[in-house]
Order: sequence, then structure tokens, then C-alpha cells
Amino acid sequence: MNGDFSILFLGTGTSTGVPLIGCGCEVCRSHDPRDERLRSSALVTLGGRTFLLDAGPDFRAQCLRRRVSRIDAVFITHAHADHLFGFDDIRRFNTMQGNAVIPCYAGPDTIAGMHRVFPYITQRRNALGLYRPLIDFISVTAPFEALGARLTPLPVIHGSIETNGLRIDFQGRSLAYLPDVHEIPASTLDLMRGLDLLVLNMLRPRPHPTHLTLGRALVYAARLAPRRTLLTHLSHDYTHAQLLPHLPPTVLPAYDGLSLTL
Ligand SMILES: [Zn+2]
Ligand SMILES: [Zn+2]
Ligand SMILES: [Zn+2]
Repeated sequence: MNGDFSILFLGTGTSTGVPLIGCGCEVCRSHDPRDERLRSSALVTLGGRTFLLDAGPDFRAQCLRRRVSRIDAVFITHAHADHLFGFDDIRRFNTMQGNAVIPCYAGPDTIAGMHRVFPYITQRRNALGLYRPLIDFISVTAPFEALGARLTPLPVIHGSIETNGLRIDFQGRSLAYLPDVHEIPASTLDLMRGLDLLVLNMLRPRPHPTHLTLGRALVYAARLAPRRTLLTHLSHDYTHAQLLPHLPPTVLPAYDGLSLTL
């Protein structure tokens, strides 16, 4: 197994995506491709195998755009529509991978939510014409191993619900991915020491009940002091270029299609 460890951003937008439907603002009209933000998702490569983080409504378009041809495992942060509603398209990867069952890791509340949204996934295969994703749901509340990596769920507060970010440690390097966060509890901050890369939610400058503002995201970035921080789940409040002057040198906005090797 080779040691490749990289992350490809499939989407870096908030739940509406950017541009917003019907919005004529400067950001939504931007011609900079970095300002087109599909719903948040990322594909992590671990030694030639791929771990998908979330599968929102743009998942199929993202796979086509980035030529994603293999998914070995999935992690779903939480069961909100913008992170989940493309999950049915996993079935195409089952087919391409010889009807292999794909493991899907998530917290117990998220798995319960997935079963409510996609009840047919767990139906028996004899239902006539049923073409459904072949998934092994694995409920995780503590660190686990997959694809040769150590994975640590990172419980965070996201408005009225608790969701999971994910820390991935692979061959001496590490990243943490937290797309939807309002507050990171102290016990979770303890799990985020020594990161090479922090991918953190930053919605907009103004306060929001379920997401981090620019100011709060930068406070967490400074406190955790990873080698690099990339901001994701972005709104239409800033273009990529407008955001840059507000950021310290180790922090950058992520953008769709950005690929980074750890
Ligand atoms: Zn979201
Ligand atoms: Zn707009
Ligand atoms: Zn959410």
C-alpha cells in the first residue's frame, strides 16, 4: 500500500449552495470558479483507497465533475439534507465495484436519520425492481480503524443537535474535517491536538445559531494551531478573493476542486 494521503474538496458551500437560487449579489454573480460552491463534501485518499465524507444533493454532479470512480468507505457527519440527500447514488459505486458492500460510518442518531430518509436501503433484495445502495451501516462513538487509518469521531454542537466531525490519522499525518459546527466542546478540542490540516466550518461574518462565524472560526484555528486551516461550508457573504485579506497566513478558504496532499 502506498502512503498517499490527500483530500479533494467536492463541495465547499453552505446548505443552499452558492450561487443561491434567484440571488443577484456580487458573490452569486462572480465569474471566479472558486466562488461556485456546491454542497459540502470531501473525498479523502488513503494509500490509493478513498473515504467519502458526506453525500449531499450535489453528490452525483460532484462525482462527474471530479471523475470520482471509486469509493471504499463513507462517513456521514449528520443527517441534514445538505450532507445526505445524494446518498442513493452510492449504488453506482456498488455496481462498479462488483456489487461490493460499502461500509458507512456515522453516529447512532445519524444512522437512525438515514434509515428514516432511505428506508428501502435496509429492505431485503427480493423486492421487485429494487436497486438500492449496498451498505454496511456501522455506528461509531469512539475511535475506529478503516482503510489502514485511525478515525476519531469529533462530537460538536450544531444548533440544537450534536453532530460529528472526523479526525483521520494516517501514516503519521492527520486531518480533521468539521463542516457544521457552532461550538466545539473542550473534550473534543482535546481530540484535535497536533493536526496537520484542520478543515473547519465558517459560514459568514454575522452570528448564526448553528454555524461558526469568521471570528469564531479563527479563534479555534489559533487555539488548535494546526499547520494549515481550510474554511468550508461557506455562504455568499464573501468571494474567495474578498475573504483572503481577513485571514492569517496559515488559514485559507477551501474551494470546490481544491486538492491537497498531507
Ligand atoms: Zn450543512
Ligand atoms: Zn448571493
Ligand atoms: Zn447541518
